[in-house]
Amino acid sequence: MIRTGTTLNIVRIGCDITYSSLKTIGERLINAFNGIIAGYELAHHDSPFIESIDAQLLTMILQQEIGGHTLGITDADLMTGDKDEFYHTIFGGKNPKNDIAVVSTRKLAPKKITTSSDYELFLDRTIKVSLHEVGHNLGLTDHAAYRTAPDGTLCPMSRGEFNKFGTAGYVRAIIDGRGQMFCDECTNFLQQVYGVKFRTGKFVNGTWIRLEKRNNG
Ligand SMILES: [Zn+2]
Ligand SMILES: [Zn+2]
Repeated sequence: MIRTGTTLNIVRIGCDITYSSLKTIGERLINAFNGIIAGYELAHHDSPFIESIDAQLLTMILQQEIGGHTLGITDADLMTGDKDEFYHTIFGGKNPKNDIAVVSTRKLAPKKITTSSDYELFLDRTIKVSLHEVGHNLGLTDHAAYRTAPDGTLCPMSRGEFNKFGTAGYVRAIIDGRGQMFCDECTNFLQQVYGVKFRTGKFVNGTWIRLEKRNNG
């Protein structure tokens, strides 16, 4: 069980995402989980796996080497035992036996990263998949249907219907559609389990904008 005020280990696994991007990911996670995650530590793990690695094996390696509450980020494909082509590789996963989650950036990059906005998009997607997997670490479950947060974006725990879009379409429809605020159900769960009070608002250009509650699916 993760305690309120946990420090999250963010571990880069043999990939070339920059340390400053990892810091951005850490800051966004702290902000989104509103006090449940108090801080983060960055680490690097050298990996002999270049193209792909079994997702569960990677969580076991990280458990042994880092332990605690950990998010691993790799640019290798995360493989599962699933025969279905879509489920054979995953964007992220979480080992139910420990507090280790892993994210693969391999399918999140736009076709080519040439401009800073291409990189922003790539980083934004990595943050959204990280939010989802760390959400699982904290006990949140997937929404099979679309569930919106108070700001109108999809809750980070939205999973949608996988096979409808194919991989590239899924990234655009579901991952890009997610925001960085949780829906009421997820917020209530986190507030009750971790004893924190979420602020109903968001930062817009550095200013806190209060959002009124409204009912939506
Ligand atoms: Zn999930
Ligand atoms: Zn939710």
